[in-house]
Amino acid sequence: MGALQPRYSFVLNPYPRERFTRCPRCEAKTRLRKIPLVIHFEPVGLVMLRKTCRLCVVCEMLIAHQAEVDGLIDAMGRTQAEKREYLILGTLDVKTWRRGFSDGVTIEELTEHMADFKQYMRIDYTPGGWYRPEQPT
Ligand SMILES: [Zn+2]
Repeated sequence: MGALQPRYSFVLNPYPRERFTRCPRCEAKTRLRKIPLVIHFEPVGLVMLRKTCRLCVVCEMLIAHQAEVDGLIDAMGRTQAEKREYLILGTLDVKTWRRGFSDGVTIEELTEHMADFKQYMRIDYTPGGWYRPEQPT
């Protein structure tokens, strides 16, 4: 959907207590980054949300906390918790995000400056640690 080159492997982290100060894949230290996300949710459509995420610069993995995103979605006051359905589509450049915030941008402008995610990843917790189901060790 986005016109820019796809970036980041994206993880929506469902575990509120897990901070991911280290990357679950390569164990490098992750960094906190405020990154504008493009989210599709009904019935509003596309929304932009600048959100603090964890980023592993080694494997370009972006991790967002599901509980935090849920909270921000709820704070928009247009959805009820039991009907919260959204999809995080990709990232946006900061300039476009700022412009959208002050003047508003069209869908065309938005997608022009948007990068889809390379892939979505799911992370499961087992007593032995984190693992990725699609990559057996
Ligand atoms: Zn990593």
